[in-house]
Amino acid sequence: MNWAEGSCITEREHGGGGEESSVALETICHEVDFCVVGGGLSGLCAAVAAARHGARAALMQERPMLGGNASSEIRMWVCGAHGESNREAGLLEEIMMDNQYRNPDKNYSVWDSILYEKVRNEPNILLLLNCSCMDAEMQDGQIRSVTGWQMTTQQFHRVEAKLFADCSGDSILAPLTGAPFRLGREAKKAFGESIEPEEADRCTMGSSILLQAEETTEEHAYTAPEWAEKMTREQLVHRRPDMNSVMENFWYLEAGGDRDTIRDAETLRDELLGMAYGMWDYLKNDPQEREKHKNWKLSWVGMLPGKRESRRYIGAHTLTENEVLSGGDFDDEIAYGGWTMDDHHPAGFRTSEPPNIFHPAPSPYGIPYGCLYSEQVKNLLFAGRNISVTHAAMSSTRVMGTCALLGQAAGTAAALAVRYGCLPEGIAREHIRELQACLQWDDCFLPHHLRAVSPACLQGELTGDGDGLEHLLDGIDRPREGNDHAWHGRAGDTVCYRFSRPQDFKAVRIVFDSDLNRDSLPEKERELKRNMFHNRLLSCEASCVPPTLVRAYRITAVTEDGSRVTVAEENRNIHRLRVHTVQIPRCVRLEMTILETWGHEEIRVFAFEAV
Ligand SMILES: Cc1cc2nc3c(=O)[nH]c(=O)nc-3n(C[C@H](O)[C@H](O)[C@H](O)COP(=O)(O)OP(=O)(O)OC[C@H]3O[C@@H](n4cnc5c(N)ncnc54)[C@H](O)[C@@H]3O)c2cc1C
Repeated sequence: MNWAEGSCITEREHGGGGEESSVALETICHEVDFCVVGGGLSGLCAAVAAARHGARAALMQERPMLGGNASSEIRMWVCGAHGESNREAGLLEEIMMDNQYRNPDKNYSVWDSILYEKVRNEPNILLLLNCSCMDAEMQDGQIRSVTGWQMTTQQFHRVEAKLFADCSGDSILAPLTGAPFRLGREAKKAFGESIEPEEADRCTMGSSILLQAEETTEEHAYTAPEWAEKMTREQLVHRRPDMNSVMENFWYLEAGGDRDTIRDAETLRDELLGMAYGMWDYLKNDPQEREKHKNWKLSWVGMLPGKRESRRYIGAHTLTENEVLSGGDFDDEIAYGGWTMDDHHPAGFRTSEPPNIFHPAPSPYGIPYGCLYSEQVKNLLFAGRNISVTHAAMSSTRVMGTCALLGQAAGTAAALAVRYGCLPEGIAREHIRELQACLQWDDCFLPHHLRAVSPACLQGELTGDGDGLEHLLDGIDRPREGNDHAWHGRAGDTVCYRFSRPQDFKAVRIVFDSDLNRDSLPEKERELKRNMFHNRLLSCEASCVPPTLVRAYRITAVTEDGSRVTVAEENRNIHRLRVHTVQIPRCVRLEMTILETWGHEEIRVFAFEAV
């Protein structure tokens, strides 16, 4: 479609002074390697991963901010794999540590700014905010370009790319390109899934508008709008609001699973707003509730429903309930999940049955690369809640920790495909080990695949203070199965490689301890460790950088001629993964000295090596 054609409008200046003029809507053209549509956590991670691996990326996001359901517009906190030391690392942990350090009060605007800068700081990313993808141009069965309408500039942006990723949640590129997708629940027998209905249907999980409230020391009255839904105690069986929990965010005010969460989005918003204000009215004014909540004040109600489910692409592989249950040991594993199969009732708030069922799932289970690309539209990848999974499997893979890993995997795969001049399926055929190694180097854990470590370091002699030196090179960068796979030391300790043959290094990689178990605290404290608050109780505490993390360290190298060079000296490290890209020619000794943590006396380091 030629958007400039036929879009010529006549403008008349207001105030009578202007001349009659005519202007056509502009189309701005861009050419990149990889274009990501949708800037939730999956799209953000896809674009950043691709850009960091050398691809020129575009990120087209229809909202004014990044983060999708995690953004301040919707306000879901990021969940991921259950269980000890199963927390997602990679790009997501980098973001989380930025947030711990820079956003101690867990302010949503600051969180938005952290997501924004994560993309803005990448010179290889063209960021198109407020830009809604609404067209795609095909050539020989592949996507040639996508076009978005940017409402702030009244411009169309046409982005031509070699590869595309649909991270829009709603799979906007499915209707625009004809890529096949699934919608609704599969029949039990289709994939032998026990938690699916007997007959396939078009039911999904519904959408929700969330509320945030604040405990104060004074009383606050509340008058509901007339259109607020009237709520009764009987209606709230299975959905009892608990304002004493920081976890309360009213997620069960849910609608649309028995309708169409895309086509009916506007009417669903109206219904959900009525529920949200009705719920607050109930808590503030119901005779049985008002005394308990008299000091509570409403601080925020969303205007944009968060969507749980709509179209899921059909990719080279479709992950099923049984594969989740079996632990997902895939040769092409590129990510993992570990949330329960958290399936919601399609009638949402309108059923008197429980709003959801947590069907158990192992944690972690592997997710294969085949779930991330289309076989029909060959240059199309996808990441997020719309990957190739059944409804049952999706009820687990949909959480944002998992979506972020999927995004990082899709973006890294795209960068490799650009490098090798191949399609996503070419990565599956010929470069899957390299994709896995890249992800592992970038601190993405693959539960069924050991990380390959630097051959030069394996051949070097490793000596030093502390205990567990061998773990710095065991290819496992987190505690697993009773072994913490870490070197233990104290401030001032040094570890050192000696190389009998001089080595040329170009990067040093270290993995520190950001306390992946920072949620494994007593119930009350655990709640305070989520990335963001919902209910803000008077007892809410500021967050901080995990005390286990190394704050100050020094890396030095000695070269063949005896000269000593400082490779890195950090005094305010806030990240788990640190990679120092620096040329160290003819290195005979490489040393790391740990100077200080953010509080802990005992220090743990999971990896230290050079390549
Ligand atoms: C009420 C609710 C509660 C939930 N609870 C949790 C929870 O506690 N923890 C958790 O981890 N997960 C939770 N989830 C699930 C999780 O939020 C989603 O599965 C996840 O956000 C999906 O990530 P995504 O990146 O695929 O999509 P999204 O986060 O939806 O991001 C997609 C982005 O793409 C944009 N987009 C859409 N169409 C276009 C277009 N045409 N052009 C450009 N951009 C477009 C959207 O505006 C959006 O910003 C919840 C979901 C809901 C709705």
